[in-house]
Amino acid sequence: MNTTTCIDVVIVGGGLAGLISAIHLSKHGIDVLVIEKNAYPKHKVCGEYISNEVLPYLQSLGADPLKLGATKITRFMLSTPKNKVIEAKLPLGGFGISRYTLDHTLAQKTKENGVNIVQDTVIDIKFLNDEFSVITKNGRNYKAKIVIGAHGKRSTVDVALNRDFIKNKSPFLAVKTHLKGDFPNDLVALHNFKGGYCGISKVENNHINACYIADFKSFQKLKNIQHFQEQVLYKNSYLKDVFENSESVFSKPLSISQLSFSSKNPVEQHILMCGDSAGMIHPLSGNGMSMAIRSAQMVSKLLISYFTGTIKSRIILEKMYEQAWNNEFKKRLKTGHIVASLFKMNHFSEFMLLGLKGFPDLLPKIIKQTHGKPLIV
Ligand SMILES: Cc1cc2nc3c(=O)[nH]c(=O)nc-3n(C[C@H](O)[C@H](O)[C@H](O)COP(=O)(O)OP(=O)(O)OC[C@H]3O[C@@H](n4cnc5c(N)ncnc54)[C@H](O)[C@@H]3O)c2cc1C
Repeated sequence: MNTTTCIDVVIVGGGLAGLISAIHLSKHGIDVLVIEKNAYPKHKVCGEYISNEVLPYLQSLGADPLKLGATKITRFMLSTPKNKVIEAKLPLGGFGISRYTLDHTLAQKTKENGVNIVQDTVIDIKFLNDEFSVITKNGRNYKAKIVIGAHGKRSTVDVALNRDFIKNKSPFLAVKTHLKGDFPNDLVALHNFKGGYCGISKVENNHINACYIADFKSFQKLKNIQHFQEQVLYKNSYLKDVFENSESVFSKPLSISQLSFSSKNPVEQHILMCGDSAGMIHPLSGNGMSMAIRSAQMVSKLLISYFTGTIKSRIILEKMYEQAWNNEFKKRLKTGHIVASLFKMNHFSEFMLLGLKGFPDLLPKIIKQTHGKPLIV
C-alpha cells in the first residue's frame, strides 16, 4: 500500500460540500486533498433549483452561477395528485443550474487554487494516535490531520464506518431527466402524484429539469420508467403536459435508489460530516444544495480557526461544529420531514391545499422554515 506524508485536510467526495470546502480552505492557505470517485463533468440526480441564500457566497468564491447561464427563479407552484393548484412568490427566490455545469466549474476552481483532486474511491477511514488513514480502492493510504466526510447521501464509506442510518431500509427511488420544451424561466413547480412528487424548473441552455421521487413499492409494480410515468405521473395533468409536450435531452433518464432521510450525526469517529453525509433534507424543500454549501462554509471557518490556533483542541472543534450544525439545520430537517409526510397522505394534501389557498401568506412562511437567511460571506 502506498502511504503519503500527513496532509492537513483530506476531503472524501468532490460534490458540492467537498468542493466548496476545498475552495474555501485552500484560499486560506490550508493544505487540502479531495478524493472523488467519478470524473467531471457528470450529470447527477437532482432537482437543480438552488436557493438564493448561497448566491453571494458562491460569487465570493469566484463561482457565479449567473455567469454560467443559471435561470433566475422567483415563483413557486404546487399541484396535488387531483390537479388542484396553488402559486406563491418565493420569499428569497433562487436559480436553476445543472450539476453537470456547477460541479465541473467548482472542480476547475478547486484545481486553480492548487488543490489536487484524486479520482479514486475511499473504502475505509481509520483514526489512530490523533491521525487519520484514508484508504482507497486503488491501494493508497492518505494520512491526514482532519477528514471532512462529503461523500453524499449513501456511500461505501458509511458501510465501512458502520453508521446507524445505513442499516435502515430506504423506500424511495429518484429519476431525473432534462427536456426541451416550453416552461417559464422564473418558475419552480412541485407536482404531486400518488406515491411521490416531481420538481420541474429550468436550468442553463434553456433545458427543463424534471426530477421525481417515488415510493419504490408503487414503482416496482410497473417495472419501467416510461410505464410508471404514463400510468402514475400523468394522472397529474400538469406533469402529463410537460412530459408529452417536450423532447428528452438525455438518451435515457438517470435514476438512483436507496434514498434515505434517516437522521445522521454531523461528527462521526472524529470525521466532520458535511452536506448530505451529515443529514439529508427531503428534496421537496429544494434546499439540500444550500445546506451542503452552508455546511461547507461552516466547517471551513471552524477549521481555519483550528489551524491558526484559535480553537485549541480537536474535541472543542468537534463540539463547536456539532453545535453549529444542529443550530442551523435541525429545525429545517424536521419541517421538511413533516411537510413530506403530510404530502404522502394524498387526501390530506388535497385538504391542505384548500387550507393554503384560504391563507395565502402561509405557503411562503412554510417555505421559509425549510430555508435559511442569506449567507454572510
Ligand atoms: C431526487 C433529488 C432531488 C433533489 N433536488 C434538489 C433541489 O432541487 N435543490 C436542492 O437544493 N437540493 C436538491 N437535492 C439535494 C441535493 O442534491 C443534495 O443535498 C446535494 O447534492 C448534497 O451535496 P453533497 O456535496 O453533500 O453530496 P453530493 O453532491 O452527492 O456529492 C458527494 C460526492 O461524493 C462522491 N463519493 C461518494 N462516495 C465516495 C467514496 N467512497 N469515495 C470518493 N468519492 C465518493 C460522489 O461521487 C459525489 O460526487 C435533491 C436530491 C435528490 C435525491
